[in-house]
Amino acid sequence: MSTTDTAALLDALRQRLGPEGCVAGADIGPRYFTAYNEAPVCRPLAVLRPASIDDVSCALALCHRFGVGVVPQGGMTGLAGGALAGADEVVLALERFNGIEEIDAAAGTVTVRAGTVLQTLQQAVREVGFELGLDLGARGSCQIGGNLATNAGGNRAIRFGVARDQVLGLEAVLADGTVVGGLNKMLKNNAGYDLKQMFIGSEGTLGVITRAVLRLQPKLHSTHTCLCTVPDYAPVIELWRRTRASLSDVSSFELMWPDFYRYVTAHTPGLEIPFAADEVFYLLIECATTNPDAEVCAARFEACLGEWFEAGLIGDAVLAGSTRQAESLWRLREGLAIDALPNLINYDVSLPIGGIDGFVQQCRATLAGRWPAVQSVFFGHIGDSNLHIGVSLAELPPSGGHEVDALVYALVREAGGSVSAEHGIGRAKRDFLDYTRSPAEIDLMRTLKSALDPRGILNPGKLL
Ligand SMILES: Cc1cc2nc3c(=O)[nH]c(=O)nc-3n(C[C@H](O)[C@H](O)[C@H](O)COP(=O)(O)OP(=O)(O)OC[C@H]3O[C@@H](n4cnc5c(N)ncnc54)[C@H](O)[C@@H]3O)c2cc1C
Repeated sequence: MSTTDTAALLDALRQRLGPEGCVAGADIGPRYFTAYNEAPVCRPLAVLRPASIDDVSCALALCHRFGVGVVPQGGMTGLAGGALAGADEVVLALERFNGIEEIDAAAGTVTVRAGTVLQTLQQAVREVGFELGLDLGARGSCQIGGNLATNAGGNRAIRFGVARDQVLGLEAVLADGTVVGGLNKMLKNNAGYDLKQMFIGSEGTLGVITRAVLRLQPKLHSTHTCLCTVPDYAPVIELWRRTRASLSDVSSFELMWPDFYRYVTAHTPGLEIPFAADEVFYLLIECATTNPDAEVCAARFEACLGEWFEAGLIGDAVLAGSTRQAESLWRLREGLAIDALPNLINYDVSLPIGGIDGFVQQCRATLAGRWPAVQSVFFGHIGDSNLHIGVSLAELPPSGGHEVDALVYALVREAGGSVSAEHGIGRAKRDFLDYTRSPAEIDLMRTLKSALDPRGILNPGKLL
């Protein structure tokens, strides 16, 4: 775009959105060009901060007319580089379009704006006796729009499903500014294609999500969190079967391999360490119950733990006796300490649950065969077949992390897994989309993209 066109576009955007709604040049704060835990990249052309649906629509229509790339942005907690813009693109940050429009107690739904922070929404629905099915570690910063655009999974997917499963209605704005979708509140609505599903998980490449109707769950009266050691992987699978059969309110089933547990317990200041690090698996199980009688639920959980111990499925176990203790167990599982590992590369993959430990062993050995000094750690939402891998090398190979990515993703492909379980493809995994999706699927994605965004202005260079 010529300098004159750029100036004309910025003028038109400023006029339409006002000084708070259109920020350019040195006034753009680093928040808008810095991904989670990474160094800032280049400043975008401008940051647009619409405060209404009409603002979003006009901003997109203008950018569409000038052929300028638009990168939707939520809380910037995404881990696939999907919300970073190039120097000649504009950021469309939804933060000013936030808030809850309605809680419909009869329908059990909440109508929410895309820029609302997840934790704010969780608290608001709790205050009126409901619970939101979605929860993730980034809850204090991530936004509903970002959660839906990435189809976030999180800590409770085994109980309530992923972000997609919470959505009854969705509104989005297309690349040319057309507003589509509706705020449907009904569980059943088979009037034609379910268009909302197209935008969920599309990482801002097909439309900008502006509002959603989410279903609400009954209030959870108490949670019961346990950490136990498991001698081997086969008992982990048996425990998964038994947990689902005996504890129908199970909400998390999270596994840590010994390398992860050892590193996190050694590097998290002030962490209460339940067991010494050993060559066993560490399993966190949480039940969240709608039963107001917390004692009954705790007793049922304890009885299960007793049975599992008798059957030799678990070794040590600790059942959190307070919210503080439960938070401490989660702090261990969230394992933020690994972020300090040098040149850490994070992977978020899915694999059929029965084969995950076999994959871990193969991955660990292959990495060590290629880079003998590598440090790798493995953990994940194992109940949803979701494995997280952290790989750290004192010095990255000349290709950067790409060589490590290629090695890990080739193993994922061989094992019949997915290169993205819950973080999306973004910029980071574009080269590996075809490890998981067939050529016909990728062609269909391209057909959809060009039908909805023929000028290719929405989140260019991401996903496809
Ligand atoms: C500590 C931590 C824990 C995490 N735990 C989990 C977890 O358990 N499960 C999980 O799934 N993820 C997890 N994540 C990743 C991240 O929080 C999720 O991907 C989250 O959904 C991103 O939301 P966001 O608002 O930060 O989006 P951003 O990072 O701002 O954007 C992510 C993508 O969505 C697009 N986007 C954002 N808003 C919109 C919109 N309104 N319309 C269209 N497109 C939009 C962006 O263009 C980008 O492609 C974690 C991240 C951190 C830092």
